[in-house]
Amino acid sequence: MISNEEHAKYIKEKKYGHIQLPDGTKIINRIISHSEDTEKNSKQFIESFGEKAPVTIENLGVNFFVQSEISTCRWGCAKGDHVAEYLIGKGLNSSVCSLRLLLLGYYDESLVLSRGIGEIANLLCLFAHDPSSFSKWKKMTKKERQKHYRPSQVRVKIQSMQISDKNDDTEFCPIDDARYKALSEGITHATPDSRPQSFNFHFTPVIGGYFQHIGALTALHELALPSAVVTLYGGLITQNNQLLRQLCFDVACKSLLNLGNMHILNLKENIFKLRK
Ligand SMILES: [Zn+2]
Repeated sequence: MISNEEHAKYIKEKKYGHIQLPDGTKIINRIISHSEDTEKNSKQFIESFGEKAPVTIENLGVNFFVQSEISTCRWGCAKGDHVAEYLIGKGLNSSVCSLRLLLLGYYDESLVLSRGIGEIANLLCLFAHDPSSFSKWKKMTKKERQKHYRPSQVRVKIQSMQISDKNDDTEFCPIDDARYKALSEGITHATPDSRPQSFNFHFTPVIGGYFQHIGALTALHELALPSAVVTLYGGLITQNNQLLRQLCFDVACKSLLNLGNMHILNLKENIFKLRK
């Protein structure tokens, strides 16, 4: 190993052909300054594009408020173990970061976080409908949870409960297999087909945070969906007051009923349609 001083001297003196290494701090500052511009442009676009995007981001802000209140016991403390409150708080932190990332033009990274929020949303859905599974889950060892409560198993458990959002027999799950798979294989996991940030007409990979409207709308949808589910079931689990439970339900439903039409499941279809 060479010392820091030796390394600095080596970098300074050694020429790598025509390449000269820059001052790292300058590069960091340049990235931050570029990010601020992208974030401003993205926010302006979302707040003014069509009917759904402005409503979705407005509703998202209200969801963040509600989750902040219930995860910090501001509406009253049940004096329990706070496991549910911490799950909601974890989801909220990820949600705020996911929003910042999508505004910065890092859509893949925003979607990775939203996939994690979806795992929390599904867990809360399961626990709200089956409180005994919540007690079991809390008492399990890490090994037991990995064995019985993997994200795919949580989805199976929810589907087996025959919850329906349309009064029919559909096997309902907030973040279902198709959505989780699309967020996993296409986005989260590195594969030979990985094309970073390719939310554009030619599926061109993009390195760095640049505004792409298809990416912004898709990532916004994939964040707003699990976030609303966290509000819905988080409210049911943590709130005893009927009015506050109703408030959480209303805020979540308003969000879910106003989501846009561009999402991870029809991403390619949308790109092909817009190319024509
Ligand atoms: Zn409390």
